This record gives sequence, C-alpha cells and structure tokens, in this order.
Amino acid sequence: MLVENNVALQPYNTFGIAAKALRLIRVRSQTELQSLIRHPQWRADEVFVLGGGSNIVITGDVRPLVLKVELQGRRLLQASDRGWLVEAEAGESWHALVCWTLAQGWPGLENLALIPGTVGAAPVQNIGAYGVELQDRFDSLDAVDLETGRQFSLNAAQCGFGYRDSVFKHGRSGARGFGLAGRALITRVRFWLPKPWQPVLAYVDLAKKMADTGVHAPDAHQIFDWVCAIRRAKLPDPAVLGNAGSFFKNPTVSPEQCADIIGRDPKVVHYPMPDGTIKLAAGWLIDACGWRGKTVGHAGVYDKQALVLVNRGNAAHPCTGGEVITLAQAIQTSVYERFGIRLEAEPTFI
Ligand SMILES: Cc1cc2nc3c(=O)[nH]c(=O)nc-3n(C[C@H](O)[C@H](O)[C@H](O)COP(=O)(O)OP(=O)(O)OC[C@H]3O[C@@H](n4cnc5c(N)ncnc54)[C@H](O)[C@@H]3O)c2cc1C
Repeated sequence: MLVENNVALQPYNTFGIAAKALRLIRVRSQTELQSLIRHPQWRADEVFVLGGGSNIVITGDVRPLVLKVELQGRRLLQASDRGWLVEAEAGESWHALVCWTLAQGWPGLENLALIPGTVGAAPVQNIGAYGVELQDRFDSLDAVDLETGRQFSLNAAQCGFGYRDSVFKHGRSGARGFGLAGRALITRVRFWLPKPWQPVLAYVDLAKKMADTGVHAPDAHQIFDWVCAIRRAKLPDPAVLGNAGSFFKNPTVSPEQCADIIGRDPKVVHYPMPDGTIKLAAGWLIDACGWRGKTVGHAGVYDKQALVLVNRGNAAHPCTGGEVITLAQAIQTSVYERFGIRLEAEPTFI
C-alpha cells in the first residue's frame, strides 16, 4: 500500500482550505485495509477517515494518517414486490448513486440529489434534505473496526440515527455512553427503496414548484430535477465558492422557549416537531443577528443564505481553518446573546 507524503488537501475539501496531509493512504480494497491494520506500526488512534471532504474544516496540516476512502462499486442485491435492495461501496459519489438508481428505475433517493460527498459518509451525519433523511432509505452498512480489523454490520437501530447524527459522530465516552467516532471505517452501505414509490413533497420549496408549474403528481425524475434546481439557486457551488454546506444544525427548543422568542421576534422561522419540541431555522437566527454577507479575514457568510459559511479568499490565498473558527464562534456568541441559543456546528473540525 502506497503511503503518500505531504499531500495537498486543498482539492480534497470543498471549503478549499490549504493544508497538507503529512501521510495519506488511498483505501481501494478491503484486503489492503486489512493488511494495513495488521501492520506492526499501525496506530488506530492516529487516523483520520476522509471521504469527499464536504463536511470538514481543516485547521492546519493533518498529522494523523489520512485514509482516503476510494472503494468503488454498486449493485442491486434484491428486487421484489416490496422494493429494491441496493448496495454501494463507501467511496462512490453520493450524487452519482442517486442518478444511477433513478436511471435504473429504482426511485426513492431523489430528494437527496446533489448532496456532495461519498456514500460512506452519508450515514455518519444521517444526511437529509427536502423532507427525506438517509435513515428513511437505509437498510444496513458494513464497517471495519480500525483497532482490531474486525468487520461488522449495523442496522438502522444500531446506527442510532438522529437529526444530522449517528453513532459515528460520538466518541466512546460521549454523552450517549457509546460511539464509534474515529474507530470505524464504513466500507459499504445498503439502501432499501420500497414499492410502491411514494413522492415526498411536503417541503415548502417543492410545494411551491408544484404550484408554479401546475404539475401536481410529479414522478421521481421531476422531483430530482426540482431538487437540483432549488439547490443550485440556493447554495453556492463549492467549485466556485468554497463551503461545507449548512454550517450549523437547526436548534430545537421547548414550546415555552419558542413562545418567549416569538414574543420578542414574531417573525422567527420555526417548525413544530413530532416529539413536541420546536425546531428553529438557524439561518434565520444568524440573519437576524446581521451576519449575512459579513466577512472576517477570508471567511464569510454567504449573502443568499446565512447558514452557509464560505471561503472568500482565492486559490492562492484561501481562508484558513482558523478564520472559519473565528467567524463561527463570533456568530455563536451573537446568537446566544440575542436568543439564548447555542448553535452547534455541523462539520467535523480536524
Ligand atoms: C454545497 C454543500 C451542500 C450540502 N448539503 C447537504 C444537505 O443538504 N444535507 C446534508 O445532510 N449534508 C449536506 N452537506 C454536507 C455533506 O455533503 C455531507 O455531510 C456528506 O455526507 C459528507 O460526505 P463526505 O464524503 O464529503 O465526508 P467528509 O467531509 O470527507 O467527512 C465527514 C465526516 O465523515 C467521516 N467519514 C467520511 N467517510 C467515512 C467512512 N467511509 N467511514 C467512516 N467515517 C467517514 C469523516 O471522518 C468526517 O468525520 C452539504 C455540503 C456542501 C458542501
């Protein structure tokens, strides 16, 4: 297995932050991964697993060994009257998987179109968009324990999915008392796409598309096209303006807290959740604090959507991870001071 030294990471993170991986290995087969873990100098606690780099903020040269997941392959495992079981290797592009399943006539992933990154990272934060979360189409995954090399499989319950959350985001001593963060490399994911296909159209932007176009019974291809068009209009293309998507999670509050905020800010964007809590739009809170379009150093707040932090530098002088952290902390402070809410960052800092 080839160890590459001093690898420039700028092309491997969508924020476009310039930094080096002191050592990087491309994981292209399970056999190679197993022989790596059996190597006498292997240190599982000094490893960082990298997918497409679309949900990370690099804060300096990366000292842990970077394992760049490039496992490829996808297949139909089962087709029945009840649905399709599809399997993809962790290094596959997520969006390419969505396109492929649709082209094969297996709908179900269309609301999750155009999310950057790899298949293997999708369960890590239970990716979600336009009314669908990964857990809604998830069957199971295979992973390798980076300490022992043992291969294991997890079903949805074992993954502990939540809003932008799973066991892969928590350490062993985390608040939940269990966790696989930094300990497991996801190698393969299986998706269950049920029949009959049911469109998911409750999301406000999709309802607006139906009203605008007069198409009230869209098929999965139509929904895919709408989702891609909405995303292109709303979110910056990382190839043009570096970013990591939504930078903060939408916070949830109690009905009493929400009523208190509405008393002071009647326009606050909020959504009642099935469990009785209220989800607030983090982008609205940041906007209300006046951050939209602001810049700190080379890091800025996107002018069309305050939830997205962007790289306002250029290829030669990109923003640094430190500038992103400074901006993120300043935003957290002002949102806390005005609303009493602590915003939680979504990306992994390394
Ligand atoms: C423009 C833009 C739009 C976005 N829109 C959305 C959205 O709508 N919804 C949403 O949920 N997210 C969104 N994101 C965030 C991001 O695309 C997802 O989180 C994506 O799943 C990250 O995939 P990745 O391969 O780039 O992961 P990386 O950024 O490489 O890694 C993210 C985390 O996962 C871990 N990881 C990666 N691969 C593996 C693996 N095989 N095994 C174990 N751990 C692994 C890493 O160690 C890291 O902690 C967006 C990002 C951008 C830039």
